[in-house]
Amino acid sequence: MVKLMGSDLKSWIEVKEGSDFPIQNIPFGIFKTPGGNARAATRIGDMVVDLYAFAMHGFLDGLGFDHELFNSTTLNPFISLGKPAWRKMRERLTMIFDENNPELRDCLDKQNEILFPLAGVQMLMPVHVGDYTDFYSSIEHATNVGIMFRDPANALLPNWKHIPVGYHGRSSSIVVSGRDIHRPKGQTKADQAEFPEFGPSKQVDFELEMAFITGKHTNLGQSVSTGEAEDHIFGLVIFNDLSARDIQKWEYVPLGPFLAKNFGSVISPWIVTLDALEPFRVAGPKQEPAVLPYLQFEGNHNFDIQLDVLIQPENQLPHLVCHSNYKYMYWNLAQQLAHQTVNGCNINVGDMYGSGTISGPTPDSFGSMLEIAWKGTKPVKMPDGTERKFINDNDTIIMRGYCKKNDLRIGFGEVSTKIIPAIPTS
Ligand code: CA
Repeated sequence: MVKLMGSDLKSWIEVKEGSDFPIQNIPFGIFKTPGGNARAATRIGDMVVDLYAFAMHGFLDGLGFDHELFNSTTLNPFISLGKPAWRKMRERLTMIFDENNPELRDCLDKQNEILFPLAGVQMLMPVHVGDYTDFYSSIEHATNVGIMFRDPANALLPNWKHIPVGYHGRSSSIVVSGRDIHRPKGQTKADQAEFPEFGPSKQVDFELEMAFITGKHTNLGQSVSTGEAEDHIFGLVIFNDLSARDIQKWEYVPLGPFLAKNFGSVISPWIVTLDALEPFRVAGPKQEPAVLPYLQFEGNHNFDIQLDVLIQPENQLPHLVCHSNYKYMYWNLAQQLAHQTVNGCNINVGDMYGSGTISGPTPDSFGSMLEIAWKGTKPVKMPDGTERKFINDNDTIIMRGYCKKNDLRIGFGEVSTKIIPAIPTS
């Protein structure tokens, strides 16, 4: 594996202590300035780098990129160039922003056209998501849900350790951090009730997930092996897969999640590449019993990404309710993509693959309110004295993700979304 950047590199752009965005990160996103067009961008510290302006000033010369790739409302055109292009781009950006390189550092005129303080821009959806799959790959989460809803003695269904279980979700309702989401309305049925009723969900929940985004298409009939999978993966984002537990409970039999899961899923705006995450690769949990040959893999495909979830009631400070880690995933991303394509299902650039709720082994690492408050039996006490079994109107859910090793910290920033009241039925 190519080692792209040393941890001792520094940028001439200020990177504050504790920032997720040192020069070793170089994530990709789409931004716009007030009155400006959407552009492709990267970020160092709290500065957004306009890649179109960067290209127009000649800083990408010699790499063979069409500048218009970056004058775009999505990263799809750039991503579709493939992994060698992503690497060339990150190498060039690293070179130009290295503290020892004067080319742009000493040219304020060009900086004024290329660099924008993050606080003054709006981040947009980074990709057009054609298809979205959501897996169910955390053994702790699947076990917890099995205990609560089925049978504590047989919490995992018989297929779970053989198949990376998943379902096809809906891409139209995937939105970027900062977007408010209305409480969904739908059918629910109380256990003792004879008939269902209709109204706003009373059990809106978050699901702490990561999602990977594919950067290379396949043709119908073609499969991607676990060994090939990472060449097809552009990078990852934090993924808050909002869920309505009461709607879910009534509707999910026999075909699985539907309206309880597609009223809003929210992603962090910066896609962090697998190359940037390379120093944080770790072994995953031991898989026992052995998996079928097409799911076997070599090397490590888990990543040590620390994940926090905070709930912020209106006009109050955020309160930490979960600290988990992506490394707990039982099924890794290479296995997920191999399974997705093993039947010949084709994939496209920009497709998104949710990990499933990432719960750890202890109650403080559970990745949903369903588990944290254990089906409402253990409400979370908030600093203001109120309690939460699920998410209240005007609560903001904040998820953060970052990797840390020695002095190197690379992260995703955060994904934030406020739950606002349901739109009244007319
Ligand atoms: Ca989910």
